[in-house]
Amino acid sequence: MSRQLLSQSCACSCGESRFAVSGMPITRLLCHCTICQSVCKQPFADVTAWWGGAITLPERHNVQFKKYRAPPALRRGTCGSCGMPVVGFLRLAPFLRLAFVPSANFPDQAALPKPKAHIFYHRRLTDASDNLPKVSGYWPSELTVTKLVMGGMFDATSNA
Ligand SMILES: [Zn+2]
Ligand SMILES: [Zn+2]
Repeated sequence: MSRQLLSQSCACSCGESRFAVSGMPITRLLCHCTICQSVCKQPFADVTAWWGGAITLPERHNVQFKKYRAPPALRRGTCGSCGMPVVGFLRLAPFLRLAFVPSANFPDQAALPKPKAHIFYHRRLTDASDNLPKVSGYWPSELTVTKLVMGGMFDATSNA
């Protein structure tokens, strides 16, 4: 299945932090790490990965960016009003960054790719009943993210 160029007006759960996403989704993951659990206030985070350039935040916004312990280069942005995740940026190189957007922030989630894997599954609060790969352990999880991003990049770069 070839992926579609996607363009949606996204927002956090309270609707105050609005932003636009326009581009090709790289991949979609279900992350069970403890940081995602506490930031999302859910057992796991359902996130889609994009090139940083796909994200447009308005000049005036109320998104608060914070770095957590790991991975160190990831800045997670949460809404100043509802405290829910808006968008996270991961810097790979000076002019190369990835963006991670919670799938729930998209008005049309059916247009997003299907999740590819569960990661940080050793931290799960509940067992998943789907047939997706379930990756446990810190490094295996990080490696899975890298592999899925690298795999998805080839399709996404042609439209970056
Ligand atoms: Zn909000
Ligand atoms: Zn996580």
